[in-house]
Amino acid sequence: MTKQPNILTDSFGRQHTYLRISLTELCNLRCTYCMPAEGIQLSPKSHIMSFDEVYQIAKTFVDHGVTKIRLTGGEPLVRKDIGVVLKKLASLSVELSMTTNAVIVDRYIDVLKECNIKNINVSLDSLVPKKFEKITRRNNYQQVLDNIHLLIQEGFNVKLNAVLIKGFNDNEIIDFINLGKELPINIRFIEFMPFDGNKWDKQKMVSYAEIMELVNATFSESQVQRLQDAPNDTSKNYKIEGYKGSFAIISSVTNPFCDSCNRIRLTANGRIKNCLFSASESDLLTPLRKGKDIKPIIKKAVQAKFKTRGGMDTSEKFEKPELHGKNRSMIAIGG
Ligand code: SAM
Ligand code: SF4
Repeated sequence: MTKQPNILTDSFGRQHTYLRISLTELCNLRCTYCMPAEGIQLSPKSHIMSFDEVYQIAKTFVDHGVTKIRLTGGEPLVRKDIGVVLKKLASLSVELSMTTNAVIVDRYIDVLKECNIKNINVSLDSLVPKKFEKITRRNNYQQVLDNIHLLIQEGFNVKLNAVLIKGFNDNEIIDFINLGKELPINIRFIEFMPFDGNKWDKQKMVSYAEIMELVNATFSESQVQRLQDAPNDTSKNYKIEGYKGSFAIISSVTNPFCDSCNRIRLTANGRIKNCLFSASESDLLTPLRKGKDIKPIIKKAVQAKFKTRGGMDTSEKFEKPELHGKNRSMIAIGG
């Protein structure tokens, strides 16, 4: 049955059923592609949504058709009241999941299970400790690796996110895929995307086509199996015959998947962004605090969504820094 248009249906008929909530702008890592070296201007603490405000805004979205919520950040687990946030959101009728760097996830296994969180995405950009340290500017490699194994042992569905950067970790693509020989994980290669302060350069990006060229040169045609992607999936999924795990490519730059986009984002300071690449935001938190109805603001923001990548609909526009330089850093958007 097709759903009726509502405040979460945009002018192209796309229904937004997936809300990604950033719970904090803070992080215990400093990934170079996400956080500028000089750090970011943090929102004052009083401008960050409380757990109850997160719940109230999330509930409004769920009441209007959101069926999936992913918690992200910054690093969602560094929020002091993360347990309370999780329990409040778990009371909504929604599939709850999380994206984390996994540095401290071992402390939260019980609460994650209690809240029925099954799907956890973990960022890991290198399997070489020194390179991990270089990209994250921290030395938590072993902790992260141990925690990935712990999550798998504890029965979570784990996806690994690796942002590929030419000359840095593109020589690890096959090593990452081979992790799936014994581990039931989905390795997702993400094309490096431009955000404020991350010194994006097309030359540094490893494209979908380049990844597949390497895969096809390494494995035989019969070994590489194309899997069926889930509806609204942003990734193209593959499996190597006989491997427990699989791999996928998220090609937001070379192959945008905007036509089937069902995502909307809420930043930690209570603003909605109708697209990861959109430079504009709509404040929900201030009106909520004043007791105003936030539904008309949500509707207007959804209606204003561009057809493709926040208006960056050609690769030429992508390459003009003035068009994407105005966006926030990823750390403050919530990937
Ligand atoms: N701290 C958590 C983590 O690292 O998983 C959650 C937040 S992080 C911003 C969410 C995702 O965004 C991560 O998988 C990260 O790799 C991805 N990301 C950040 N900056 C990116 C960029 N410039 N291009 C592509 N992906 C990026
Ligand atoms: Fe932190 Fe995640 Fe950004 Fe790395 S990618 S700095 S772990 S928010």
